[in-house]
This record gives sequence, structure tokens and C-alpha cells, in this order.
Amino acid sequence: MRQKIVAGNWKMNKTLEEAHILTAELMGMVADEVKGNVITVLCAPFPYLLPIKNQLGNSSIKVGAQNCSEHDSGAYTGEVSATMLKSMAIPYVIIGHSERRQYFGENGKLLATKVDKALANNVTPIFCCGEPLEIREKGTHEALVKQQVEESLFHLNQEAIQKVVVAYEPVWAIGTGKTATSQQAQDMHAVIRQHIAAKYGSATADKISILYGGSVKADNAKELFACADVDGGLVGGASLKSREFVEIVKAIG
Ligand code: PEP
Repeated sequence: MRQKIVAGNWKMNKTLEEAHILTAELMGMVADEVKGNVITVLCAPFPYLLPIKNQLGNSSIKVGAQNCSEHDSGAYTGEVSATMLKSMAIPYVIIGHSERRQYFGENGKLLATKVDKALANNVTPIFCCGEPLEIREKGTHEALVKQQVEESLFHLNQEAIQKVVVAYEPVWAIGTGKTATSQQAQDMHAVIRQHIAAKYGSATADKISILYGGSVKADNAKELFACADVDGGLVGGASLKSREFVEIVKAIG
């Protein structure tokens, strides 16, 4: 059975104090209400990783970063490497979020290197792919997403690809309140899985968790998570409110 994962992406939000309050609320609710084998991940801003990790202690909730450098160390002011994440025992990192692609010019080749750095440091990459609205409207969304997956993941060997979590996030659904229908999500997740299967075989593709992201909310999560190829969610705005986020985590149970 594939691992179910619900990851919250806090982006550049919250003060440290607010982050601690949110974490405390989530720890209580997850411990009391979340059953089953879902992994909950909080992807926090870099300066909060260690304080939040320490706060979580032996809670079942994990912490994740939102990005890492393509370099190991050196004169790269403002950057944080996967080696540093490893040194803090951070288990997850988002790679290739559409905001990184759009505002920071990250391309498929660069993201392939970041994926390598994460894996080399035993940090699980949550690799994001997804098409902008104009591509969806042109009808070339499947081709683009397949290309994104190919460019950044298909250099990996059979063992390494199984350590990657994929997140399909249609750009037109991120932060817009416009969610993909469950059919649109399922169709693209199946395309991604089949594409991986064509290269690595279906036994391998069947092991890879593919998360959906894009305006997931408590009231649409159940329907999205019921899709055969949707193994959880990457949640932005709704992860900033404890009750809303826990309801989303519970929706996969
Ligand atoms: C995201 O940032 O990955 C995301 C899916 O955001 P939202 O849930 O706010 O659309």
C-alpha cells in the first residue's frame, strides 16, 4: 500500500510565535483525532525548522523545508543546502514548487540537481509539477507535466525514484480557490504514474506517492483523496489554520 501523506506548505507566513501556536494546536488535534497510516508534514520557513522540530519532539507530525540549494556548501549567500537539512534531521523538502519556478527561475535541470542533493542527504524530496492555465487551455497539460517529471526525475535509478514523493499542483489552482475537479486530478495523477511505469515498471510506479495540491480545503479533500491515484495533498493556505488542516488530514484516513 502506498504511503499517504498530507503536507502543509506554510510558505513565507507566520511569526515564530504564531508558528509555535499553530504547531501546538496541530499536535493536540493530530494525536487525538488522526488515525491510520497518514504522515503529516509541516513545511516551515528555514528559520523555524529546528524550533518546530524540537517542539514536535516524538509527535507523529514531521517537519519539512520548502526548498534547498543545488550546492552542498560555499559562497552562496542566503542559501540553505540539503547537507544542512540533513544535519538538522529534517526528513522532507519541497522541490520545484511553482512559485520557485515562476519567481526564482528554477528550471527542470536545476531541479534535477536539487532532487539529487536531497536524496544524497536522505531528505525526501516532494517534487512539484503542474501546468499554468494557458497550457491547460491549449490542451497540452499532460505533455508538459510528463516533460517536467522526465527532466527532473528520469535520471534517477530504480532505487532512487522510489524515494521521491511527487506533488501534482496545477498552477491555476494554487492559492486561487479554484480546485481541480477530482476527475482532472485523477486523470493527471494516472498520467504521471503511467509515465513513471513506462520507464521504471509498474511495480515501481505503484510505490510512489503522488499528492494533489491546489486549493485543497476541508470541504473538497475527501473527494480528491478518494481518487485511486491521489495519495494525499500538498496544502498551502488551508495549512495555516489548525482546524481546517486537521480536517484535511482526517479526510484521507
Ligand atoms: C501550495 O502552495 O502548494 C498550494 C497548493 O497552495 P494552496 O493550497 O493555497 O492552493
